[in-house]
Amino acid sequence: MNPLESQLAYPFGEALPERGATIEVAPGVHWLRMGLPFQLDHINLWLLRDEIEEDGVVRQGWTLVDSGIDDPATRAAWENIFATVLGGLPVLRVIVTHMHPDHIGCAHWLCERWNVRLWISATDFNVARLASSASAGFGGPLSAAFMARHGLAADPAAVGHAGFGHAPEHMALHDAGHGVLISGDMVLPRISTNVSVVDVEPEADSLTLYLDSIERMRAIPDDVLVLPSHGRPFKGLHRRIDQLQEHHDARFVDVLEALAAKGPQSAFELVPVIFRRPLDLHQMTFAMGESIAHMHALWFRGTLARRLGDDGVYRFALAA
Ligand SMILES: [Zn+2]
Repeated sequence: MNPLESQLAYPFGEALPERGATIEVAPGVHWLRMGLPFQLDHINLWLLRDEIEEDGVVRQGWTLVDSGIDDPATRAAWENIFATVLGGLPVLRVIVTHMHPDHIGCAHWLCERWNVRLWISATDFNVARLASSASAGFGGPLSAAFMARHGLAADPAAVGHAGFGHAPEHMALHDAGHGVLISGDMVLPRISTNVSVVDVEPEADSLTLYLDSIERMRAIPDDVLVLPSHGRPFKGLHRRIDQLQEHHDARFVDVLEALAAKGPQSAFELVPVIFRRPLDLHQMTFAMGESIAHMHALWFRGTLARRLGDDGVYRFALAA
């Protein structure tokens, strides 16, 4: 455990859900894990014991939060969970925190499998549709109107917390009554959330959006049990927010020092200042997005100036 992690508390210790099984982390809140074919090799998913009222009839069942990547192994793991964990009750709805493939991948299959609706922020729904060449993905009877986040307010104790910077409009789910926060990718215990500027929104200030979003999460009590998408459930939300802010502040200082020493630099030239380890091509894509996000945050604050060189490359320098 690294020194920063040791400042957080892990109420379940080293325990991890076994393949095809769950751990109940709060009353009615069950933790399961699915594999991912990436360096980040797992995602945490959540089963919520739930009820839903339709036409005056209350139905008992389960809400799924996030879906895993869409591959045969994940579908098989879901079938295994359905057979052993649900106690004969149906899935009532599928909630997706945001549009990244490890979260939304299997959602269309789950919604068809149970004939239920998908709940997602309207922004991420639309961006996911734009990003997908298949128009059939979530169509038909699964009404887009119900996918919007306002529906989550139907249960006064459970509200969606919109966060920005990592995905277009990421939803974290906070249940004040039980002191539980499903944080998605907004707050992770060990790794810092990827915050990138990408080509579809080239002038974005993603990192400021992200830092503002996690600052707003301080409104959630510090003793909340945080259920992240990667890593283990933990306590210490406010300390973790401190750590993430300190992490990015330290990178800002590194960038300013490098620019003071070397003069104008491109985001690519500053990647080694922000990431001090060798990167493969896949990691370089993320690293470039993160490097640009750091430059943009300082540029939007007026600390840096940006100039387009004769070679067609943007370079950032300390503002006069
Ligand atoms: Zn994500």
